[in-house]
Amino acid sequence: MSSVLTKFLRYVAIDTQSDPFSTSFPSTEKQRDLSNLLVVELQEMGISDAHLDAFGYVYATIPATSTKADVPVICFCSHVDTSPDVTGTNVKPLVHSNWQGEDLVLPDDPAQVIRLSEHPDLAGQLGNDIVTASGTTLLGADNKAGVAEIMAAAEFLMKHPEIPHGNIRILFTPDEEVGRGTEHVDIEKLGAVFGYTVDGETVGTLENETFSADGATIQIQGVSTHPGFGKGKLENALKIASDIIAALPKDRLSPETTDEKEGFIHPVHLEGGQDQARIDFILRDFTTIGLRQKNEWLKKTMEQVLLRYPGSTATIQTTEQYRNMKEILDKNPEVVTHAMEAMQRVGLNAQLRSIRGGTDGSRLSFMGLPCPNIFAGEHAFHSRLEWVSVQDMEKAVEVLVELAKVWEEHA
Ligand SMILES: [Zn+2]
Repeated sequence: MSSVLTKFLRYVAIDTQSDPFSTSFPSTEKQRDLSNLLVVELQEMGISDAHLDAFGYVYATIPATSTKADVPVICFCSHVDTSPDVTGTNVKPLVHSNWQGEDLVLPDDPAQVIRLSEHPDLAGQLGNDIVTASGTTLLGADNKAGVAEIMAAAEFLMKHPEIPHGNIRILFTPDEEVGRGTEHVDIEKLGAVFGYTVDGETVGTLENETFSADGATIQIQGVSTHPGFGKGKLENALKIASDIIAALPKDRLSPETTDEKEGFIHPVHLEGGQDQARIDFILRDFTTIGLRQKNEWLKKTMEQVLLRYPGSTATIQTTEQYRNMKEILDKNPEVVTHAMEAMQRVGLNAQLRSIRGGTDGSRLSFMGLPCPNIFAGEHAFHSRLEWVSVQDMEKAVEVLVELAKVWEEHA
């Protein structure tokens, strides 16, 4: 069995689900079960500085083999946690060898079926070995495929010191799925100049663009009276909030009506009573200007609704969440071109993609570590229909090894 598959099957059996409601860090202690194992395995490969820090991050170094002194230090990064959306307890991975296009019926819940017609990326997988869960849990390929690929690449490089490369830092983070994966990354200690998250989808793709993201909160103060005596006076904060949400366009600017490079304004939470109400929104766009326009649109809409409620007031507060990593990557083009070169050199049709979301890499890029996202082969993540192919994972390992060489050759 291939080294990356053996590792992957071992890692997905360990429950590492993170918890968005936890205030501790990492959000769940069980994430350390995998992180501790990774440290042991790295040490067994001969990577003596591998360790788990107090926050649950794994740091390790594949020592340089190059005679050149100025090869930039690069970092490979993946997250150990799995999504809170679907349970990750008792994952039973199944390998469907030499897949011939048939429906993949997951035995522990036969209603869970992975069909070619619903998973277009399966079209490229004929004859490959597909790994799925058994029907009642997620698989955890997001992001244990990436973890296994980095571990297999590390093992390969440690066994082949004749391959010249610079220092390569490995970083395994907790809590990516709850948006806190970079909260305690020590960039200085990491000491890398360029990074790659290995957490993307389709084989051969490199994601160099993410959304730019803001959160916006509208706080409404209505005019409250006893409802029996409200005539001509009462201004119900809940109705004001509803009017604002109803004013959002029905045919555009929403997640359900946009794709590719279009952004949106998306209400995610509403609470309150007749006196006060609050609406939380998330705003997304690929450009900072587009994001600002969405903020202005929301503010203007709020003000227009308020014209009908003269006794009421409302405020809008915007908080920055993350920014499109392309702003940083464009200033460091080699981090993208070297990865494209590595993919081409292992025979892939390398393609750039954008993500309608954020990655740990978008935050790391703005923390000083330019960090696009390399494919890991994971598909249908955060669901019980998650799948990954063994051949895609093996290709990702090849890309990581080749990428280490490319950086050395260009130094
Ligand atoms: Zn992920």
